[in-house]
Amino acid sequence: MERIFNFSAGPSILPVEVLQQARNEMLDWRGSGMSVMEMSHRGKEFTSIAEKTEADLRELLSIPNHYKVLFLSGGASSQFSMVPMNLLRGKKNADYINTGEWSKKAIQEAKKYCTVNVAASSENKNFTYAPTQDTWKIDHNAAYVHYTPNETIGGVEFSWTPDLTGQNSDVPLVADMSSNILSRPLDIKKFGLIYAGAQKNMGPAGLTIVIVREDLLGNVLTDTPTMYNYKAHADNQSMYNTPATYPVYIAGLVFEWLKKKGGLAIMEQLNIVKSNLLYDLLDINDYYHCPVKKSDRSRMNIPFTLKDAALDGKFIKQAEERGLTQLKGHRSVGGMRASIYNAMPIDGVTKLVEFMKEFSAYHA
Ligand SMILES: *Cc1c(COP(=O)(O)O)cnc(C)c1O
Repeated sequence: MERIFNFSAGPSILPVEVLQQARNEMLDWRGSGMSVMEMSHRGKEFTSIAEKTEADLRELLSIPNHYKVLFLSGGASSQFSMVPMNLLRGKKNADYINTGEWSKKAIQEAKKYCTVNVAASSENKNFTYAPTQDTWKIDHNAAYVHYTPNETIGGVEFSWTPDLTGQNSDVPLVADMSSNILSRPLDIKKFGLIYAGAQKNMGPAGLTIVIVREDLLGNVLTDTPTMYNYKAHADNQSMYNTPATYPVYIAGLVFEWLKKKGGLAIMEQLNIVKSNLLYDLLDINDYYHCPVKKSDRSRMNIPFTLKDAALDGKFIKQAEERGLTQLKGHRSVGGMRASIYNAMPIDGVTKLVEFMKEFSAYHA
């Protein structure tokens, strides 16, 4: 079997052990005589899968009991509208932190439902840093504060969790954690709501996970479609309609894999080691450049440019010949981007670093 090292930002690499297990269980899931894809979502087999998946996620993230875990569809992009529809709760405005492409999309969508106050922005430096909390101009009457802890495209990650408790405990913190959830331990209590599409660090596309504090539910905008009402999903164990059953199953296998690996504290250590391998090279080798401020560099998505952009195509082609794929940067920023989620083995990063050293030595 020949597996490539896939550096795609998403859908992205999955642990090979998970794929092997899914293959082994493809035709007959644990003596049931059927594939998970063929199961009724309300049957005892799938119910057990969904319950185990939720329990393992709760264990990994130490999610308190007064938070609901929802398995939704529609991607993180649907959350850009579901969040204001559900969390405005009669208020007219919400605060957003603007740190790049995904923040901007969330802001654009929220403007359809409320007045958006951009409480902090890194636009003045082309979205290459995370504004510190002392610069946030929070409106204490805002319905919530929304931020993007890891900007997948720009490679900017908050290394700290904002703390809105204390100064005003009424403003819930909302986070789009699509590309860094499960990459490190989290203090869930600091958040009102967390959402994440599965296809970056959790599983296949088609599943979106929402973790929400119970008391925030039940006060939606008038005429909100039932499918966009968190409470409808929460009251029905995410079975108001048919959930994305197969992606839930695969995410469940990923959660089991994470537990076997030792949990999120261990994953964080590995992610520090892996990302430092790349950042150390980017810093000492002046053939490469990473535009992001050192303290705010993402451990998951690492953007960089070559000294000579005319060689971008050659770099990508030669990397592919070594089984290092999907390194082309996002069309909005250019250059390269290496996404190194939990499932990327350290061997993949080492091979990339070796190749980059050779490439720069040859072209310097
Ligand atoms: C990928 C991504 C999204 C969009 O996810 P979809 O599932 O395609 O809707 C939103 N936010 C962030 C931070 C992302 O990385």
